Amino acid sequence: MIPFLSLKDVTAKYASEIHEAVMRVVDSGWYLLGKELGSFETNYANYIGTKYCIGVANGLDALTLIFQAYKECGILKDGDEVIVPANTYIASILAITENGLVPVLVEPKFDTLEIDDEVIESKITPRTKAIMIVHLYGRCAYTEKIGELCKRYNLKLVEDNAQAHGCRFGEKRTGSIGDVAGHSFYPGKNLGALGDAGAVTTNDEVLAQTIRSLANYGSSKKYVFEYCGRNSRLDEIQAAVLNVKLKYLDEDNSCRQQVAAYYYDNIRNPFITLPTRMLDENNVYHLFPIFCERRDELQQYLTEQGVQTIIHYPIPPHKQNCYNEWNAIPLPITEKIAREELSLPISPVMEKNMVEYVVETINKFQ
Ligand SMILES: *Cc1c(COP(=O)(O)O)cnc(C)c1O
Repeated sequence: MIPFLSLKDVTAKYASEIHEAVMRVVDSGWYLLGKELGSFETNYANYIGTKYCIGVANGLDALTLIFQAYKECGILKDGDEVIVPANTYIASILAITENGLVPVLVEPKFDTLEIDDEVIESKITPRTKAIMIVHLYGRCAYTEKIGELCKRYNLKLVEDNAQAHGCRFGEKRTGSIGDVAGHSFYPGKNLGALGDAGAVTTNDEVLAQTIRSLANYGSSKKYVFEYCGRNSRLDEIQAAVLNVKLKYLDEDNSCRQQVAAYYYDNIRNPFITLPTRMLDENNVYHLFPIFCERRDELQQYLTEQGVQTIIHYPIPPHKQNCYNEWNAIPLPITEKIAREELSLPISPVMEKNMVEYVVETINKFQ
């Protein structure tokens, strides 16, 4: 079986350095808010190109803390609207609703899968205060037009960079384009920990301080609590692992780009559509989505032929029970993606012969 993603092999690639890093923390006797986290925050801020990085417990916390901090700073208030792509992972939307804000779902473009910047303006109301872009599948969702709209309507630009570590827009990395960004280091992400971890990056000093405090029970001075915060920490062992893996992120992303290039150059099947190809640096291929009207049949066939695939995502947020108030909203492109999407195996440890086998097998599907 060709696995969708073998985390075991991904870790094995850097095993000796990871073992050394983990044991260094074990032996140090210091497990939270120490040197490893400090150096990861510096390294990751430098990598992304922002002044500040705050390590937190996971990607959902990173996004939730961003909106909570904007509220504590008086920039957002209950009932304010946040524009967000309708086809995102549920975490992006939970971060908005958990803070008493209102998500306004915007359709993606089918050929890029990213938020449709031509639809955004028609969704802006006097209550709109922010746009959250999500760099889905590893592809940059930012456009000049989105930047202009933020300026013209005075909107904060929040990036969900959970799926696009290392992706660029021109000279800038995603995570440094907007006002603030949330990152997830869930094990399967391009930069993955060996458990949960996340971070916020920003150049906004006040926001950075507020988030750091909120993630530490609302306290920046021991036993003094300014906000009703939470406990959201990136622990020392995970920070040590991330320090190792960050050094190889660009190399790992270029392995993903080579797999993707082979898929683009060689998948030829009239029943299958690929998203529009982009400049490589604008796509770090967290996932490699393909589209097929007979998606479930295709998935079954690939499984029988020994190729594991995953659907991202079978039920869009507006069709979920937790958001039943939106179930009747028509979002045809988002629904088409949910119906037809299938993600092929892609990772920095995929061997050439595996990629060739996947292509051969797909090309024979009829
Ligand atoms: C993974 C992911 C998250 C959430 O990250 P966790 O670390 O699992 O909480 C948020 N947004 C998107 C787009 C994701 O893919």
